[in-house]
Amino acid sequence: MNPYPHLLEPLDLGHTTLRNRVIMGSMHTGLEDRAKHLPELAAYFAERAEGGVALSVTGGYAPNWHGWLLPFGSQMTSRRFADKHRVVTDAVHEHEGKIAMQLLHAGRYGYHPFKRAASTKPSPITPFRAPKAMTAKEVDRTVDDFAASAVLARRAGYDGVEIMGSEGYLINQMLTARTNDRTDRWGGSAEKRMRFPVEIVRRVREAVGDDFIVMYRMSLLDLVDDAQSWEETVELATKLETAGVSIINTGIGWHEARIPTIVTSVPRGAFAWVTGKLRPEVSVPVVASNRINTPELAEEIIASGQADLVSMARPLLSDPFFVQKAAEDRGDEINTCIACNQACLDHTFQNVRASCMLNPRAGHETTLVLSPTRVSKRIAVVGAGPAGLAAATELAGRGHDVELFEALPEIGGQFSLAARIPGKEEFAETIRYYSRRLETSGVTLHLNRRVTVGDLAGFDEVVVATGVEPRVPSIPGADHPSVVDYQEVIRGRATVGRTVAVLGAGGIGFDVSEFLLHESGEPLEHWMARWGVTDPALERGGLATKIALPPKRQVFLLQRKTTDLGKGLGKTSGWVHRQTLKDSGVEMIKGVSYDRIDDAGLHVTVDDQRRVLNVDTIVLCTGQESVRDLVEPLEASGVPVHVIGGADVAAELDAKRAIKQATELAARL
Ligand code: NAP
Ligand code: SF4
Repeated sequence: MNPYPHLLEPLDLGHTTLRNRVIMGSMHTGLEDRAKHLPELAAYFAERAEGGVALSVTGGYAPNWHGWLLPFGSQMTSRRFADKHRVVTDAVHEHEGKIAMQLLHAGRYGYHPFKRAASTKPSPITPFRAPKAMTAKEVDRTVDDFAASAVLARRAGYDGVEIMGSEGYLINQMLTARTNDRTDRWGGSAEKRMRFPVEIVRRVREAVGDDFIVMYRMSLLDLVDDAQSWEETVELATKLETAGVSIINTGIGWHEARIPTIVTSVPRGAFAWVTGKLRPEVSVPVVASNRINTPELAEEIIASGQADLVSMARPLLSDPFFVQKAAEDRGDEINTCIACNQACLDHTFQNVRASCMLNPRAGHETTLVLSPTRVSKRIAVVGAGPAGLAAATELAGRGHDVELFEALPEIGGQFSLAARIPGKEEFAETIRYYSRRLETSGVTLHLNRRVTVGDLAGFDEVVVATGVEPRVPSIPGADHPSVVDYQEVIRGRATVGRTVAVLGAGGIGFDVSEFLLHESGEPLEHWMARWGVTDPALERGGLATKIALPPKRQVFLLQRKTTDLGKGLGKTSGWVHRQTLKDSGVEMIKGVSYDRIDDAGLHVTVDDQRRVLNVDTIVLCTGQESVRDLVEPLEASGVPVHVIGGADVAAELDAKRAIKQATELAARL
């Protein structure tokens, strides 16, 4: 029997049926904005529809130019542009999927000077002057614009629209006293503030007719001050139902909220309970979202009655065939999203096309093609870190005869270290995925094999993915017994005292600090208490006072640069790491010079002042050096050599670059 009967059960919406309970949630890829990119957008959605997704939702389209997210951003306001979208909708329908267009008015979150919002209150996260407040007439016209865009979406062949009512965009801004100080018919009381979304749904429904999906993404937890109360949220949901919504999707947290909602340290399914709280209040289907990344969890959420459907976006970037693999009971073959944000949301926020660290083909389906090879070669891959694993499995998948050599007794490289960091447990899923993929693609794996050039004679090509080793800085006393490197610490091979200095504040310095402060596998209740998240029936917006959890150690984190620590971390996740360390009492010291290490501890100079940190242990997280001792002798032996990942360039090495480089190489060989 299929292990996911609830997840795979069709859902009858009256005029149409969804083939299962999986919605691909909206994610702005960067392909939405220009007509010339629509064929690529079509290929992206077609692959997900082929993989079994029931209903995909596009990135947000503004109903008018005042609602743009970016200057000249995506908007659905013309018949000409709507007609160009046929390529997208036809591609999805060809695979029997359905697709809805998201309608999003950014309000004060717009990155442009023409934005209009509920009031002139500026956005705390947008580098533009305050928005203009809409006149009452403009509000009314904006409601009509939503309806007009929905009609155009229908003309374009979409099966429905999703009205973006969460994440702090215009509709949220109209709904709360935090941002709506209007005294006209669109503000002044909770009831009047609700008029805007209710009118939008009513007029959209009136304009598109009954046989069209109207989904509404509703903010169930605002996670900001002066937010909606739970009673108001329920009242809005029932009004939206009366106005004609088909499905209510869940949104969690405004973008300006200082609580993480999707990064990897957020426990899986952390917010399904709030969707479960709304479900008995309405009779339309409700959708759970955020940090749902396995078919087991999705099944449990639906089977337990918390939701009728689940929305996943990033997990379908990392594996477009998620649903198909679940349906064929091949869940262990899913390339599970690890919620790192490195190639998806971090790209979106940098205005770069969204992709996936684990699946560099996402968003590049038409150009990064891994077709079967015509000439099968014998290829050796040396090193089973992310780069070597990606290269070996993709090469074997194309039909090459691949042997993978790893000096350690396990695969994973830097990922096996990352998986031991509290809040990064998801990285173990990638190792599980590759273990399975090595089997299914037929790679011959040799563990505990440190190869020599002689071992590699006879291969047609050699891929060197031997990774990196920790850099030992030239500080006097760096050989003192109190000094250890990060690998020894994370692998549990070093004794670490109660007070610790972590040298180097890159991604690894931050990771090691978290490793020294907390345990892995944090329960949801702890996480909620630590970030101040509560039941919205108790506190407006679900915002409570944070409860600091006692750290295991006293940690000092140091760097030589004078910039703030953690500046180079991911755009959407760096602030979470910084806040976590701050809440754990870590002293972050910038602009240091390391004078020496001796029995008294670490001697540093900061702002021309000498200081001794009397610590038990000093952990080196001072960057990496490439391991490439095989490269020159291999080249001299005449075999074609390809160097990838950290072995190629160690500086600012990250797995995104390593896996992309490996996949592109595999597509070429
Ligand atoms: P990194 O980001 O290059 O940081 C190395 C740190 O060591 C820097 O803070 C640098 O700062 C210091 N340093 C470099 N040379 C030094 C020297 N000779 N003496 C003393 N200090 C020195 O490298 P990493 O932390 O090892 O991380 C490697 C890569 O893994 C990162 O680039 C990142 O992409 C990825 N990663 C990311 C995350 C994340 O985003 N959460 C987590 C883990 C790994 P100063 O020169 O200012 O002292
Ligand atoms: Fe998931 Fe990371 Fe891929 Fe984004 S980049 S889809 S978060 S694995």
